[in-house]
Amino acid sequence: MSHRIKDLIAIVGLVVALTGSERVLAADDTSLPRVTVLATGGTIAGSGSGGGIGYQAGKVSAQDLIGAVPGIDKLAQISAEQVSSIGSQDMNDTVWFTLARRIDDILGKGEADAIVITHGTDTMEETAFFLANVLKTDRPVVLVGSMRPSTAISADGPANLFEAVKAAASDSAKGRGVLVVLNDTIHAARAVQKTNTTSVQTFLSPNGGPVGFVDPASVGFVQPMPSRAKPYALPAEPSLPRVEIVYAHANMDAAAVEDAVKRGAKGIVLAGVGDGNASKAAIAALANAAKQGVVVIRASRVGSGFVNRNVEVDDDTLGFAVSLDLNPQKARILAQLLIANGVTDPRAVQEAVGRR
Ligand code: ASP
Repeated sequence: MSHRIKDLIAIVGLVVALTGSERVLAADDTSLPRVTVLATGGTIAGSGSGGGIGYQAGKVSAQDLIGAVPGIDKLAQISAEQVSSIGSQDMNDTVWFTLARRIDDILGKGEADAIVITHGTDTMEETAFFLANVLKTDRPVVLVGSMRPSTAISADGPANLFEAVKAAASDSAKGRGVLVVLNDTIHAARAVQKTNTTSVQTFLSPNGGPVGFVDPASVGFVQPMPSRAKPYALPAEPSLPRVEIVYAHANMDAAAVEDAVKRGAKGIVLAGVGDGNASKAAIAALANAAKQGVVVIRASRVGSGFVNRNVEVDDDTLGFAVSLDLNPQKARILAQLLIANGVTDPRAVQEAVGRR
C-alpha cells in the first residue's frame, strides 16, 4: 500500500474517531433522494443472546441496521452516523442538542434531503417533540424504533426502518414537521404517544389519529398540512432548565410539589388526575410555587383528551397554565424551552401551549 493511501486511511480514521460517526452508502443511484440515518440506540439496535426474553438496547451499529433491510437501497441514497448507543430511557440533553445541531447542519448545508433517526421507543415521543420545537428545517425528519430486538423472532425493526426511510424520502412528507413511523402508521410529534408496554402496535395519536400511513404501495397523509411555529433557540450549553413532573394520586399531600421546589425546579408539570386535577393540598402547594415564579402547567395522567382552563381549578387566580392535548412529558419539554428563552409569565406560557 502506498504512503499516500496509508495517510488517507489514517486521516479518515482520525475523522471518524473525532466525530464518532460512520458514514455508509447503501445505494449509488444518484437520482434517489438522499437520506441520512442518525442512530441513537434503542431496541431497534438491541441484541439478545437468543432463547430468553432479555436483550441489551443499542448494541447494533447503524451500518448493520441498514444492512439488515432488504431493498432499502432502492428507496434512497443512505448515509449513516452513530450519534449515541443508548437505551432511550437514558436519553438526555447532550444527545438532544447533538441531534438538533447535526440535523440543522446536514439539512441546512443541503447534504441530505431528509433525516431518519433510529431511537428507543420509551422516550421517542419526547425526542420527537423536542426536535419539532427547535429544528430550523422543514425537511422531513422521521423517528423510528422497534418493540423487538434485532435478534427476536419476527423482529419489527427492519420493516419499520424500511417504512421510515420510505416516508422520509417521500415528497409528501415535506413540510409535515417531525414524524414518528412505526408499524405502518405515521404520527405527528405533538400527538404521538407510546401506549402499550410490549405490543408492536404501541404508538397512537389518541386525540386525532395518525397523520398518515405507509403501505407497500405508497406513503399517504390523511390530515391537513400543519402550520409551523417559530423554533425555540437552544442555550449554548447542552442543558435545559430543571422542570419536574409531579404525579397525582388519591390521598396526595403537598410533599412532592414542595420537594420539587426545594430541589430548585424552575417549572413543575402536574400529571394530574382527570382534567389535570389534584388534591387541595397539592393545588395549594402548586399555587405557592407559582407565586414564587415557578412555571406551573397542569397536565393529565389519563392519556387522552384535553386539559382545559378554569374548570374545577381557577387557573387565572392561581397562576397556572394548562397543557391542553400535551401529555405531561411533552408539557415538561415545552416548559423547559420556554424557561430557557425567558418565558415564565403564565399567560405567555399558555399562549405557547395554545388555547381552545
Ligand atoms: N428501552 C428501550 C428504549 O427505549 C425500549 C425500546 O426501544 O423499545 O431504548
